[in-house]
Amino acid sequence: MQAAQQALSRCKRGSKRRRKAVETVARLHRKIRRQRLDHAHKTALGLVREYDFIAHEDLKIRSMSKAPAPRPDPDRPGSFLPNGASATAGPGSTVRSPIPDGGVFLAILAAKAEGAGREVMAVDPRHTSRRCPACGHTAKENRPTRENFHCQACGHHAHADTVGAQNVLRAGLARRQATQA
Ligand SMILES: [Zn+2]
Repeated sequence: MQAAQQALSRCKRGSKRRRKAVETVARLHRKIRRQRLDHAHKTALGLVREYDFIAHEDLKIRSMSKAPAPRPDPDRPGSFLPNGASATAGPGSTVRSPIPDGGVFLAILAAKAEGAGREVMAVDPRHTSRRCPACGHTAKENRPTRENFHCQACGHHAHADTVGAQNVLRAGLARRQATQA
């Protein structure tokens, strides 16, 4: 892709070679898009087959609460409960899913979940990266770097993505219980 784009930038405007290079770049773009969609479908299908309940960050709230409005982070983890697991049993599993485009992926996931009778719940992502899953202490100092979570109250230490996923699942289950009550 990069090579094709470089080749394109070297071609003279209006030349035959340039037109060919433009076609090559466009073809590669289409191919990547197709592969990403294919990957999103496979990932969503895998999750729906394996889990009864899927919680994820609400991308709309996320973009409102963080300035400047970011693109949905493709590497944010979701949180999932294995099929048959009780909602009160606590986190059953945490899966990192590489999402090429958060919005597109979630739309695909929602459609597949509905077809399979699974539950998908969006949760408010605020504080999900700051709250300690061990003691509940919530502070921005708990997150010294992008990757590390280190609770300033109890010393709990984990990968920040793991903590984020645990908090998203916890919030999702709480929200589900509230809507069922
Ligand atoms: Zn703690």
